[in-house]
Amino acid sequence: MKFRKSPPNIVKLRFEKELEYQVWGNHLLRLTWTFVAMVMMVELAIFAFKKLNGGAENTEEYLLIYIAAPTLISVSILAVTHAVSRRLLARGQYSTQAYLYLFCLSLLCFMLALAHNAVPVVYVIFIFPVLLALIYIDDKLLRGVFCLNFFLYLLYIGGLYLAYGHTQWIRKPDFVNVLTAAALILAGYMSAKMSLRRQNSLVYSIICAHELTKMDSFTGLYNHAAFYEKLSARIQEYHQSFRPFSLIVMDIDDFKQVNDQNGHDAGDKIIMTLVSCIKANLREDEIACRYGGEEFTIVTNRVPDEDFALAESIRRSFEEAARRIGHQPSATVSIGIARYDAKRFGARRQFFSAADEALYAAKRSGKNHTLVWREDISVFNIQRT
Ligand code: GH3
Ligand code: MG
Ligand code: MG
Repeated sequence: MKFRKSPPNIVKLRFEKELEYQVWGNHLLRLTWTFVAMVMMVELAIFAFKKLNGGAENTEEYLLIYIAAPTLISVSILAVTHAVSRRLLARGQYSTQAYLYLFCLSLLCFMLALAHNAVPVVYVIFIFPVLLALIYIDDKLLRGVFCLNFFLYLLYIGGLYLAYGHTQWIRKPDFVNVLTAAALILAGYMSAKMSLRRQNSLVYSIICAHELTKMDSFTGLYNHAAFYEKLSARIQEYHQSFRPFSLIVMDIDDFKQVNDQNGHDAGDKIIMTLVSCIKANLREDEIACRYGGEEFTIVTNRVPDEDFALAESIRRSFEEAARRIGHQPSATVSIGIARYDAKRFGARRQFFSAADEALYAAKRSGKNHTLVWREDISVFNIQRT
């Protein structure tokens, strides 16, 4: 199995492709609008409460400083974030959108903390962007958002100390509150980190399980569905890099007879013998798959002569290994090869059919052969090698 990536890479893969990032980006934007509406409602409720209890003497000033101004600034920041985010999401620039969104959310928190600096509990608002960063399952992003918010918190507290005394709207922060809030923000980040580690391990398990669905459990090679997936990817790569490649298709000869005369267990051993011969001859960057029961495919990355040499090496080594096992009849394998040609083979199925056609031509001509596909394959005069 080729799957040996470390969790962060896997997370990155899922981050962009499998998590429906666009949907989550939009969810977060909607959630932030809800937050802003909630803040406004709480501000109005406090205002009404104060009014009923004979407080909030200067009504106009109170409404302007605590309700109208913060709401206007919040809505403006969020509206710009929303517009830019939607554009970035539509263009597929998911990571940029995540960074932009969390940066703007942090600014929003800074602004709200400033507007409500008289309420010490508001100091911990800086933990919200850190918690929301968890959605993106990205270690670097989480760390970055925490650093930004801790910096904003220090800036905020420093600003309060400096501005205190110059304006009546700024209250001097209490040292105990400042320290407690700092500890809570740090504790929130540490909890988020732990949660992210758990998320990473779950994502890792999911992706490993997903990879396993591409494998043939008996031989450990890629299965039929994965073969077509890999073939499509290789064809696509060819169109970008023009790196030539071929497809080898092989089928064990008279395998039914091998089973019937020696039992299925013996048949299984023969299959594994061929798999060992394939693996022993393959290069790191080449892919072998189990197409069906006793049919196998290889996507090679070699020059034409080397393709043929590879197929022949597998055919011969298998013939020899099967002979050593000593079953009657002794198993052999027939092989078809097709060289990828973009002009000739449009679709992957067409390309596969060419290699398959070469395989059946090899079967028709007495089996235990390797044949390379060409236009006149049906009348191909086979040369034994
Ligand atoms: P040909 O030379 O034309 O390829 O004939 P064949 O007998 O090899 O092909 P056929 O399609 O008639 O039979 C293939 C057999 O392979 C039938 C099936 O029972 C057997 N088979 C498929 N998968 C396995 C497996 O995993 N283990 C065993 N033992 N047999 C298998
Ligand atoms: Mg077959
Ligand atoms: Mg067969």
